[in-house]
Amino acid sequence: MHIIVLGAGIVGVTTAYFLHEKGYTVTVVDRQPDIAAETSVGNAGHVCPSYATPWAAPGMKGKSLKWSLQSWLGMESALKFTPRLDTHQWRWLRQFLSQCNAERYAVNKARMGRLARYSHTQLKAIRERLDIQYEQTSGGNLQLFRTQEGLDNAGLAARVLAEAGVAYQLLDAAGCVAFDPALRVASDQLVGGMLLPQDETGNCPLFARALGSWLQTQGVTFRMSTTVQGIEAAGGTITGIRTDGGVLQADAYVLACASASVALAKPLGLPLPIYPVKGYAITVPVIDADAAPRSGVMDEYYKVAITRMGSHIRAAGTAEIGSWDTRVTARDCATAIKSLASLYPHGADMAKVSYWAGLRPMTPDGAPLIGATRYANLYLNAGHGSNGWTTACGASRLIADIIAGTPTEIDSADLGPQRLI
Ligand SMILES: Cc1cc2nc3c(=O)[nH]c(=O)nc-3n(C[C@H](O)[C@H](O)[C@H](O)COP(=O)(O)OP(=O)(O)OC[C@H]3O[C@@H](n4cnc5c(N)ncnc54)[C@H](O)[C@@H]3O)c2cc1C
Repeated sequence: MHIIVLGAGIVGVTTAYFLHEKGYTVTVVDRQPDIAAETSVGNAGHVCPSYATPWAAPGMKGKSLKWSLQSWLGMESALKFTPRLDTHQWRWLRQFLSQCNAERYAVNKARMGRLARYSHTQLKAIRERLDIQYEQTSGGNLQLFRTQEGLDNAGLAARVLAEAGVAYQLLDAAGCVAFDPALRVASDQLVGGMLLPQDETGNCPLFARALGSWLQTQGVTFRMSTTVQGIEAAGGTITGIRTDGGVLQADAYVLACASASVALAKPLGLPLPIYPVKGYAITVPVIDADAAPRSGVMDEYYKVAITRMGSHIRAAGTAEIGSWDTRVTARDCATAIKSLASLYPHGADMAKVSYWAGLRPMTPDGAPLIGATRYANLYLNAGHGSNGWTTACGASRLIADIIAGTPTEIDSADLGPQRLI
């Protein structure tokens, strides 16, 4: 059986890996010349099974309003909202806001956590089997709180973690410095932190490209620089994909094009609830290793994730709703710069900052859409939002099992697109 995977981001490549493991003939199609060249290339690199949390949370309605006002007033803000005459945007927002209550939050967080923890086991199995090096760090990531309110909220989150059996440690400022000595110069800015010892970091495109290279040696075909223009269907079956290189046909198809999946699925009558939430990242060379982060840090005040990636530091954050392009200016990255420069002022060469923007393919409830569609041979693995590097391997193992008709190792019934369509 021949399967075409649409998209060669981290999700498409890991999908190809697990389909290949099942013995299928696999072709991956992507519009970019390189693997993992869009959202997967510049993310913050946190592999965070303990941290994975829906953005739709109790209190988010008020916070979103406050942040939107701040951004409209030209103030620094974690969220920027540009309203559009676009029913897709408003439908997505309505669904997102309907998830911002304690009951939905608990359901959604449990679903994301289950997937993220499973994904971590699959990621570790792949790297051990293929000996892939991708600037990974292990030993835990640190959530940092600059206000007492933030630390108090962490106490609430800690209870949820405890119920799920996830290890964590609440720290005071001295404890944060003990974990990451480079923070000593910033300790007066910190109220405390939460150490998540099972979480890791890693360079997502390095991993995806190494996996893609290995798959090519195993006979998986990558048709790069090939844009999918449409998906053709007859009756309840997909008959092929129209590309700028001609029509490609297979027995089954997996749509893994992140936010771009929406436009491809729409003509099929599949209104995918995925909306792009733009984020920004800076990458800066390390100038003093002892003054640079040792692994991953989440600055909760600025909502900026900071990561050591080999000889560089990445800092990423900001959520912009209403933008479909990936243009970036230094000004867009001001919050990331401020956070990094205040926590690790001597670690990075701030004269050599490079800037990036990407589109998080967000669903309203935070978890991706993994599963079958009403077309007999079309499957989805899209909408991984702010956690796709964390969830890709698990989701891809699940979709391969679903296609093969073998039981999935974790419950996957509530991960399908039907929950939101
Ligand atoms: C600022 C920022 C920080 C983040 N930090 C983290 C983090 O720390 N940890 C974490 O787990 N996640 C993080 N994420 C989220 C993560 O990067 C994404 O969830 C993940 O990269 C999504 O992977 P993907 O393969 O679905 O998408 P992509 O990498 O975008 O892959 C989709 C592919 O589809 C291809 N494609 C699209 N349309 C077509 C078409 N018509 N024809 C052919 N090909 C097409 C594209 O070229 C692309 O290669 C972050 C995201 C952002 C923006």
